[in-house]
Order: sequence, then structure tokens, then C-alpha cells
Amino acid sequence: MLHRAVEDISTGSDSDYSSTWISWFLSSKGNEYFCEVDEDFILDRFNLTGLNNEVANYAQALDLITDQLDDEVQDELRGSLDVQARLLYGLIHARWIVTARGLAKMVEKYKRGDFGRCPRVLCQSQSLLPVGLIDVPYEKSVKLYCGRCEDLYSPKSSRHGSIDGAYFGTTFPHLLYLVYPTLIPPKTGPPADGPASANNTGEGKGGRRRGREEVPDAVGGMSGEGGGEGISTASVALKAERYRPRIYGFQLNETAKLQRWQEAMRDRQVARLEELEERG
Ligand SMILES: [Zn+2]
Repeated sequence: MLHRAVEDISTGSDSDYSSTWISWFLSSKGNEYFCEVDEDFILDRFNLTGLNNEVANYAQALDLITDQLDDEVQDELRGSLDVQARLLYGLIHARWIVTARGLAKMVEKYKRGDFGRCPRVLCQSQSLLPVGLIDVPYEKSVKLYCGRCEDLYSPKSSRHGSIDGAYFGTTFPHLLYLVYPTLIPPKTGPPADGPASANNTGEGKGGRRRGREEVPDAVGGMSGEGGGEGISTASVALKAERYRPRIYGFQLNETAKLQRWQEAMRDRQVARLEELEERG
């Protein structure tokens, strides 16, 4: 279901008239995460190395996205070719957004909040960035990375949720913060690009203290694994999976250091919990 918007071909191209395939693609509903790839990037075959093995009807798909397709061919296999053209554009897009010019275009979108904002209350509407969990297409849909809580979220809309994560890649958000360190969100206070946090001040006055995490609920949520009494708080803590940012497959230095420290702290806490549970 990654490429389901074929029905948009007729409606999309009729309603919003646009001169090029790329501008039509970008203006189609659900494609808001994509930025415009410069034509000279696409026309430089060096940038497309290897993509001919990933896309069927590669030459014609390339002609279609660069508006050079013969009219006859267009009528013959327009439908299937459009699917291939989307795939090709997506894979080119993943390469483009890690170039200097591509990053700059995505920064504009990031500042506008085109990728949505973090749903976590304490992130104060931090702007998100799209990321892939794997660089191979047809495997995982796109996720949204929050630079503040350093966690991942699924897009709210199903149209965005069905976009292939390989069209953004595993490196993009982390490279963006590496190249634009001033955009790295602060860990506390209002975000640099977000709305003022005036709406957060009322909290806590209503007499509702923030209690401890409700561990029993969390344990209940894990039911089905192991049997009844075998589930301990410590084992649940150990199972929490974490996202590890990577640039070209390498774990980020500072983040990796911090994560190792956090995990050492977690392991100590887990050991204490196990000790307590053994006693009780
Ligand atoms: Zn967040």
C-alpha cells in the first residue's frame, strides 16, 4: 500500500493545472513531505547511479519526470509508468535531500512545520523531520523524528503514513542537524521555531500532581509474553526499544555516548528493581 494514490492522476492533473510532472507531483495531496529536486541534479546521470536496477522501465520513468516522454508511449503504459516514476522520484529525492541544496530546501519546510510537530507535551510543538528506518524501498513507511525528545512518531494522516521511508532515508534528519547545528532544538524551554509556550503554564495548578509512572499498567500491556508471574518491572524496562540515529550507517558520536550513559543508568536501575523484587 505504499503507492496507492494512482487514482489521483486524473483528478490531480485536472484540478491543479501544472506545467511539469514534478510540480504536479509536489502539488498532489499527500506529497507534502517532498521537496523539489532541481532538474540539473536529475539530469546529471552520476547522481542516479544504480537506480536503473531499482526501477522498472527506468528510461521511460526518467523521461516522464523530466517531461520528455513521447506522447504515444504516454498513452500506452501511463498507469504503470506513473508508479515507476513516483518510485524513481522518491529514490532520487532521498539522494537529493542529503546534498547542500537539498538540505537547504528541506530546512525551509522544517521551519514551516511541513512535517508536523511532536505530539509529546514537553516537546512544546517541536517541528519534526521525516526519516526512513531503512534505505531500501518497499520495506518501511516514513517516520517522523523529533530532535528534542530524539524519538520517532508515525505521521498523523494515512496518506503520509503510507509514504515509503526510503524516499527520505536513514541519514537525512541527523545530517541536517549536523550541517545546521543552530537548528538543534534546546532540551528545555520553548523551541526556537515553535509557538510561544504560554498555554503550558496552567498545568500543575489544578492540584493534579504528576505521580510516578503507572508501572502496573505498563506491565499489563506486555501480557501475552511469558506467563503471569514471570513478568517483572525490570524485564519490562529492559525491553523498551530505542531509536539510534545514524549517518550513513554510523551511529552519531555524541548521541551514542549519551545513549551508552543512559543505558548504563538504566541497567543500574534495573538491577536495583530486581533486587527489590527478589526481596518482596
Ligand atoms: Zn519530541
